[in-house]
Amino acid sequence: MLRRLTVLLLLTCSLANAEPLPAEKLSPHVWLVQGESALGSRENRNFISNAGILIGPEGVVLFDALGSPALARSLVETVKSLTDKPITHVILSHYHADHVYGLQVFKELGVKIIAHADGRDYLNSETAALRLKASLEAGLVEPGTHLVSADEWIDRETRLRAGGLDLIITPVGPAHTPEDLAVWLPSDSLVLAGDIVFRGRIPYVGQADSLHWIASLDRLLEWPVKIVVPGHGPASTNARVDLLQTRDYLAYLRATMGRAAHDMTLFEEAYAATDWSRYEQLPLFKIANRMNAYNTYLLMESQEK
Ligand SMILES: [Zn+2]
Repeated sequence: MLRRLTVLLLLTCSLANAEPLPAEKLSPHVWLVQGESALGSRENRNFISNAGILIGPEGVVLFDALGSPALARSLVETVKSLTDKPITHVILSHYHADHVYGLQVFKELGVKIIAHADGRDYLNSETAALRLKASLEAGLVEPGTHLVSADEWIDRETRLRAGGLDLIITPVGPAHTPEDLAVWLPSDSLVLAGDIVFRGRIPYVGQADSLHWIASLDRLLEWPVKIVVPGHGPASTNARVDLLQTRDYLAYLRATMGRAAHDMTLFEEAYAATDWSRYEQLPLFKIANRMNAYNTYLLMESQEK
């Protein structure tokens, strides 16, 4: 009885939630479904990250799977509202919860999932299991949500012809995560960058290796990029400025905190003495900048030894 009730409840939820999400056309082949600038909650169904919809003459490629199966079903409805062509591939920017919890919906549809090989470490980690447990308990995702493995793991730059589109999938980690991937669509001068580009806000640096991160941004800047789609926030038609802004911020952290670590200045002292005026006005400065600086200080200190 309870089981039947649960099934009924899930069915009702899934039907109620499968409204298409709004999509914005960015270029001849690409639409953006943009998540909210918020923390994940029951109300927003963990809709805090973006997904890219690439529609070619023969099929549809998605970039990222959104943060819950309910959202993924809505994403499927969005695609149906734009085209009658089938979804053939999902390419993952990285294995973070808000980008992958929708995967099981695509798996059931027989869509091919592509991710970077280093995503397997996260998939099999205790961190991933604990995060999923917490998300289930908080009601961010519905019961039955589970992690899904990719069908194809790549570890080098890969050309893909999918849906009639020519794509280049390129590893850009370790940066935000070890398994970061970006997708370059030359026909549209557009790059889907995942979480290695942050637009108009302070990036979340975490434990990232910022030197690799800078090198990855330089790799993207080698392409004639006009449009950049970040993992969070609006797309940019001023791609080079946004790529450089993230790059320069990381370089500034390394320069200032590197000097402090080298001179054995205490972090508190160095942080207070640093001129942050270029970044103070950006959203999330208060929440993220101090932590980013501290992580960079520790990183630079470890390299001094
Ligand atoms: Zn993210």
